[in-house]
Formats: sequence, structure tokens, C-alpha cells
Amino acid sequence: MNENTDSLVISCADKRYIDFVDTFIQKGFKAGTYYKILIPGSSLAFQTCSDAMNYSLGLFLPIIGSIHIIDHYDCAAYQDAYNIPDTDQWRHIENLRNAVLSVRALNEYIPVYTYLMNPNGEVLNVAFDNS
Ligand SMILES: [Zn+2]
Repeated sequence: MNENTDSLVISCADKRYIDFVDTFIQKGFKAGTYYKILIPGSSLAFQTCSDAMNYSLGLFLPIIGSIHIIDHYDCAAYQDAYNIPDTDQWRHIENLRNAVLSVRALNEYIPVYTYLMNPNGEVLNVAFDNS
């Protein structure tokens, strides 16, 4: 069990969603208790820039107690990666699951929470086994 209480929030750098993500963070986290990484594609970055993500996680894992990964619909990074409009929920679910597995490969105990955000800012929790 990890006694750190700070969280790492990973979300896409899409400008349309930055205010929504900040609102989500303000509702769920106290000021000064989280770190935020904005990276195109969010969960997708665990595949497209896996070395950089592993390096970043290696820096953060000793000082955080949980990880929160926020994907969103209509993601340009997804459109670029798959060369089709980003409308399929399953693709996000699959990449969020892969992101959880990437974290698990580095630390099998840290809780990882995953979310999918609608264009109106609504947040869907995407739950995987966190045990
Ligand atoms: Zn995006």
C-alpha cells in the first residue's frame, strides 16, 4: 500500500477540454494535492510514446498515491493514430485498459482510475479491476 496522497492526472492537451478537465479536477481533488500532465491522446500516449510515459511515471510513482487517466471523444490524436473519426468508445476502452496495464507493469499496487469525457464535459467512469 502506498502512503502518498497526491494524485497524478493525465489528460489530453486538446484546448476544447482543458476547462472541463480543470472543473473535473476541482471537484475531485484539493488544491495542491495533484500533478497534471497534458499529453495528446492521453491513454493513447501510453502506446505512441511509451518510453516517455514510462520515464514520466518512473519520476511520479515514488511521490503519488493514485493515477487518473482522462480520455475524451472526438480526439484529434486518436484520429491521427487510426486515420478515422474518433467516434468508437471501444477504442478508448482498449487504450485505457492498456494504459492501466502499462502502469501495472511498473507498479502493481497503485490505484489507476480511468475516465472518458463527452464533448459537453460529462465524465464517464471506465472501471477496470483495481485490485
Ligand atoms: Zn484529445
